[in-house]
Amino acid sequence: MKTKFAILLISALSFSGLASVAQAGTTLELSGNDTMQFDVKAFEVPVGAEITLVFTNKGSLPKAAMGHNVVVLKPGSNVMSFGGASVAAAANEYIPQDDANAGLIIAHTKLLGPGETDTITFKLDAAGEYPFICSFPGHYALMKGVITAK
Ligand code: ZN
Repeated sequence: MKTKFAILLISALSFSGLASVAQAGTTLELSGNDTMQFDVKAFEVPVGAEITLVFTNKGSLPKAAMGHNVVVLKPGSNVMSFGGASVAAAANEYIPQDDANAGLIIAHTKLLGPGETDTITFKLDAAGEYPFICSFPGHYALMKGVITAK
């Protein structure tokens, strides 16, 4: 006469969702879209590991209106200041060339139009929190994240 209770929860737990913790040997996949969003905003990597970052612009708007890149900066960088300086660097796809700002750059992708992908490799040789942004004018307020090396 006891009521039987079905157990239905187990399969729900296998859903992997947004993977943001990378393992050694380390490939990070990141995309940007037409609403000025990165799909992942936090990565974790081992100090000193070779990191491969595969960045894709999944939007459809023209590059001149909605281009995206990824610029990885040193820990402690002033992202607002760097983003402001990037606006003046249109001739270099919004990568500043002056010593003060260029010296903050660990690595960067090309500026990508719709459907384009760029792959870069770099290492983070010290533990810390490395900001990354899109340096297209105005995007850094929304398109930013952190790579934590430890
Ligand atoms: Zn962007």
